[in-house]
Amino acid sequence: MAEINILDHQTIDKIAAGEVVERPASVVKELVENAIDAGADAITVEIKDGGISLIRVTDNGGGIEKSQVGNAFLRHATSKISSVQDLTSLVSLGFRGEALASIAAVSMVEMISKTPEDLTGIRYVIEGGVPKEKEEIGAPTGTTMIVRNLFYNTPPRKKFLKQPQTEGSYVADLMEHLAMSNPRVAFKFVFHGQTRFYTTGNNDLKEIIYRIYGREIAKELIPFEKEADGVRVAGLLGKPVINRSNRNYEIFYINGRYIRSTLLSRAVEEGYREYLMQHKFPFCVLHFQIDTDRLDVNVHPTKMEVRIADGSSFYEAVKQAVYDTLHRQEMIPQALLSEEPGEKQTVRQSVPEPFEHRRIQEALSVRAPAIEEIYQKSRRTAEPAEKPAAEPVETSVERQNFSPSEGEPAGVQMELFDDRLLSVKAREQYEILGQLFETYWLIAYQDKLLIIDQHAAHEKVKYERFMKRFYEHDIVSQAVNPPMVVTLNGKERECYLHHAQDFAALGFVIEEFGGSDYAIRGVPMDLYGYEEEQFFYEILDELAEESVTGTPESIRIRIATMACKAAVKGNTRLSREEVQKLIDELLTLENPYHCPHGRPTIISMSKYEIEKKFKRIVT
Ligand code: ADP
Ligand code: MG
Repeated sequence: MAEINILDHQTIDKIAAGEVVERPASVVKELVENAIDAGADAITVEIKDGGISLIRVTDNGGGIEKSQVGNAFLRHATSKISSVQDLTSLVSLGFRGEALASIAAVSMVEMISKTPEDLTGIRYVIEGGVPKEKEEIGAPTGTTMIVRNLFYNTPPRKKFLKQPQTEGSYVADLMEHLAMSNPRVAFKFVFHGQTRFYTTGNNDLKEIIYRIYGREIAKELIPFEKEADGVRVAGLLGKPVINRSNRNYEIFYINGRYIRSTLLSRAVEEGYREYLMQHKFPFCVLHFQIDTDRLDVNVHPTKMEVRIADGSSFYEAVKQAVYDTLHRQEMIPQALLSEEPGEKQTVRQSVPEPFEHRRIQEALSVRAPAIEEIYQKSRRTAEPAEKPAAEPVETSVERQNFSPSEGEPAGVQMELFDDRLLSVKAREQYEILGQLFETYWLIAYQDKLLIIDQHAAHEKVKYERFMKRFYEHDIVSQAVNPPMVVTLNGKERECYLHHAQDFAALGFVIEEFGGSDYAIRGVPMDLYGYEEEQFFYEILDELAEESVTGTPESIRIRIATMACKAAVKGNTRLSREEVQKLIDELLTLENPYHCPHGRPTIISMSKYEIEKKFKRIVT
C-alpha cells in the first residue's frame, strides 16, 4: 500500500505557487499590483533574460514596516481588507495574500523597503521560501523587489518556460497593458539594460500610447466615449489606416483590469466592419466600467477572459457607438501630437527613478488630474476644425463596389469562365472605353464588357514582379532617405529580432536606433516608395499571429509575400497610357483575375447578359 505523506510547508508553498506564478510575466504583474496598492505613482520594472534570471520592481509607495517584513511573505498574509465580495469581483487585484509567499517559494527574492516614517530601511532575503538575511540599511522611501532565478528549485516548471525572448515579450505586453490601465502612474520598463518605454503619469492615455506604440499610431486616434445600459466606455479608436493584422491591439479593460472578451472584440469589429479588410483588426484602447454583478466572476484571477451577463444589448450599443464615431470622423483632419520625435529621444535619457518622482512632481506642483479628465484631455487634442469631406477611406470604397447588389446580373468574376479569354494575343482585340468612378476601366473585349479595378490590377502586377525577383534571387535594396524610424512594441520587436536575418536577406536594411526604435534604411527595390513603416508593422503583426516555420528559403518567401501584400496597395492615379501598359502586363500573368489580397481584378459582363437585361433576349 502506498504510504500517505503529509507534505511539508515548503512543498505546499511550491505547489500553491503554481496557481499564482506561471511565468515571469505573472511575477511582474503581482509585484506591480502590490506597488500600485502601496500607493506608488512611479514604478520601474527591469528584467533580464525575459525575467527568468532577474526581475526588479522598484516603487515609491508606502513601503513595508520593518516588523512586518517577514509576515508579508507568509501565505495568506495581507494588509488589505478582503471581503468575500472583494475576492469574487474583478475589482479586486487577483489573489489575496498569496503573491509574495508564492514568488518567494520558487525563486530567490531580495527586498529593500522603507516607510516614509522610518529613517532607515530594511533589506530582506528569502530563497525558496527560506528566510536568509535581514538587515537595516539606508534606502529611499518605497520598495524594491528583486526576484532572481525563477523556478530554480522546481526544474519541471522551469522547463515549461519558453525562450527568454518570448517570456520577455509577455512581460513587455503586460507592461504596456499596465501602463495604459494606470495612466496616473509613471512607469519605466527596462529590458536588458535598455529603457523600452516610460510614461509620465500625467493621466493622458494618448500620450501613453504615443510612448508605447510611437507617433504613427498616436496620431491616428479618435476619442471614443459612450454611456449606455449602465455601462461606461471611454478610450481611443484607431483610424482604419492603422488597422492591424491581428487582435493583439484590441485592448480592453473592464474596471481597470486588462481582459480579453470575444463579445467586446466582435462588437468593436462589427462597428469597424466597413473599414476592415479580411484578416484585419482595429487598433483600440477602451476602458469599460461595468457593474461587477454583471460580470461572470467564475473566472480564474490570472486568466484574462471574462463573460458579461445579458451581453446582447451591450453588444449593440458598443457596435453602434463605434460605427457612429468612425463615420463622424471621416470629415475630420488629423490631429497631430505637438511633441516632436527629437524631444522624445532626449526625455528618454532622464526618466526619474521612482524615489525621485514624487519630489520632482511636487517641485513642479503638477496636479494629477481626476481620472475622468483623462479622456477629455485627449479629446481636446483631437478637437477638429471643420473641413469638407476628406477622401473616403479606400478600403471601404473597394468593399462596397465589389459586393454585387442582389438580384442584379452583376459582373461575373472572370475565373468562372473556363476558357482563358485573356491572353497576350488578345491585346489587339480589346478597346479601352474609358474610366469610371476614377477606379474602374471599362474595356470592350469580343462579346464582353470587362471592368478592371485599376488598384487591384496595379497591386497584382506589382506583386508578381516583386515575387519573381525573389524566386530568381535577384534582390536589390533601395536606400530610404531619410531613414524611417519605427517604434516596436514587445511582440513586434521579438518578431523582428527573430527574423532579422530574413529581413536582411530580402533587402531590408534595418538598424537599432536606441530603445525600442529601429531605423529602416533600405527596403527591397520593388517596394520602395510605398509606406515603408506601415508595411513593416504589418509584416510584424502578421508574423506575430502565425509563426512561420520551414526552410530558410520558404520562410523568406513567406515574408516576402507578406511584405509585398502589405506594401503594394495601389492608390496611384494612372494615365490612359499607363493603364494600357498595366493591362498588357496583367494579361501576361498566370492568374490575372485576383489581386494578392484575393479581391477580383477583373469582372466581366457578357453581351448575352446585357441583352437579357434590356429584354432583347427572353429566356
Ligand atoms: P496581497 O497583495 O494580496 O496583500 P501579497 O502577497 O501580494 O498579498 O503581499 C502581502 C503584503 O505585503 C501586502 O498586503 C502588503 O502589505 C505588503 N506589500 C507587498 N508588496 C508591497 C509593496 N511594494 N509596498 C508596500 N507593501 C507591500
Ligand atoms: Mg498582492
